[in-house]
Amino acid sequence: MTKITVAKGDGIGPEIMEATLEIILAAGAKIEIDEIEVGEKVYLAGNTSGIASESWETIRRNKIFLKAPITTPQGGGYKSLNVTTRKFMGLYSNVRPCMSLHPFVSTKHPVMDIVIVRENEEDLYAGIEHQQTDEVIQCLKLISRPGCEKIVRYAFEYAKQQNRKKVTCFTKDNIMKQTDGLFHQVFDEIAKEYPEIENEHWIIDIGAAKMADTPEAFDVIVVPNLYGDVLSDVAAQITGSVGLAGSANIGEECSMFEAIHGSAPRRAGQNVANPSGLLQGAIMMLNHIGQTEVAEKVQNAWLKTLEDGIHTYDIFKEGTSQQKVGTKEFAKAVITNLGQKPSVLKAVSYANNSALNLPKYERKPAARKELVGVDIFVHWSGSDPIELAEKVQRIESNGIKLSMITNRGIKVWPDGFKETFCTDHWRCRFKPQDGLGITQTDVIKLLDNSISENIDTIKTENLYAFDGKAAYSLGQGQ
Ligand code: NAD
Repeated sequence: MTKITVAKGDGIGPEIMEATLEIILAAGAKIEIDEIEVGEKVYLAGNTSGIASESWETIRRNKIFLKAPITTPQGGGYKSLNVTTRKFMGLYSNVRPCMSLHPFVSTKHPVMDIVIVRENEEDLYAGIEHQQTDEVIQCLKLISRPGCEKIVRYAFEYAKQQNRKKVTCFTKDNIMKQTDGLFHQVFDEIAKEYPEIENEHWIIDIGAAKMADTPEAFDVIVVPNLYGDVLSDVAAQITGSVGLAGSANIGEECSMFEAIHGSAPRRAGQNVANPSGLLQGAIMMLNHIGQTEVAEKVQNAWLKTLEDGIHTYDIFKEGTSQQKVGTKEFAKAVITNLGQKPSVLKAVSYANNSALNLPKYERKPAARKELVGVDIFVHWSGSDPIELAEKVQRIESNGIKLSMITNRGIKVWPDGFKETFCTDHWRCRFKPQDGLGITQTDVIKLLDNSISENIDTIKTENLYAFDGKAAYSLGQGQ
């Protein structure tokens, strides 16, 4: 018997959760349910995180969390509970299988069978945002080596366990050479440890286009957080409906299982929603807790039900479907089919599907880190970069010289183009003259001088070399 935390969520959540639990219990799942309240009611009661502290205790104690979708109220500073849970609980891996059920569910892609393994904790989802000038707001994109290693290793171990042939990595490292560059580099490093699995890298834009057009060219796809969020919704939708896909959020200690779709408030309370997405999440949960036989039984009964043409409104199609049913009737049909297997769709066998056991991340020896310059960001409402350069050069001291100014990353001084549009957010790069070095004290001196010169500095970014290699981006056009 495994104790699990269950949250029924908002909108269609309670209906699809009831259907899901009814099915898995009828199939013999050995689970004990600890229910918590999360979502809209909790938000509107004044808790901006959508969850009470006692509920965190329940989630942490039970370690396995089955969650229905919730509604995040718009505005009012409410934080997404999904993102908070993933990050608080260290759920670094988001696994989203997206499979076509041709010819029973209408799709333009009959042979699609993709698993998207999305990094779940970092990237732009760190949610660190600041308004810095009248015109510019910044969001920090954070990519870490442990984050990359953990997710890439998970993808390869998953591929190995599931007998999948290929892992594809999508990044935009032609533009984000440092952040996406690290993800790609770690992918190449770890891929070498799995010579039996094919590996490839695509730039995300053309890769996404290819996936939407020819999904049969892909198998397992590993991606940074934001790209994975977008890509997995596209992948689920093109199999036939977002209502069909489930997702597992896996951490070293805890895990959360859910549908990939939201709470669809317009469909709530009408017994019409498709419970399949959450059911797919629950099946991944059963595999994760070692109840693989029950998981297999439910999945085969679910495939048989779809094959019988018993469909909820979202996948119902005259000609293909036999019977349009509501949430409850769909659940009843799956229960009736428990013990049966599909005859056209491929029946599953989950004998080898328990939780993956990955090695813990081992921190690498520290590199030799050397300060080689500083970027000082300035809020300035003028328009001529030459004027700004003259102003900013007044803060130079101790052989530390202004070497470049960029505006939104594009070099505008020296030798800028008058056509370049400039906003009020300027990066002024300072570097020591040849033969000299730069210290933290020099940086403080530059900042101190900028106060005297009435220059509005927003922030600084130190420029470092790691083991002698410059570890910062050049200005565009530099
Ligand atoms: P949504 O996924 O809830 O719904 C979009 C549309 O997809 C629905 O109108 C419906 O037509 C269809 N749909 C989705 N699930 C279905 C199902 N199971 N059966 C049949 N049709 C289904 O997206 P949204 O409308 O953008 O978001 C609604 C709310 O859900 C928002 O408050 C959002 O913040 C929240 N949300 C929650 C989660 C989560 O809890 N994991 C994820 C995404 C969105």
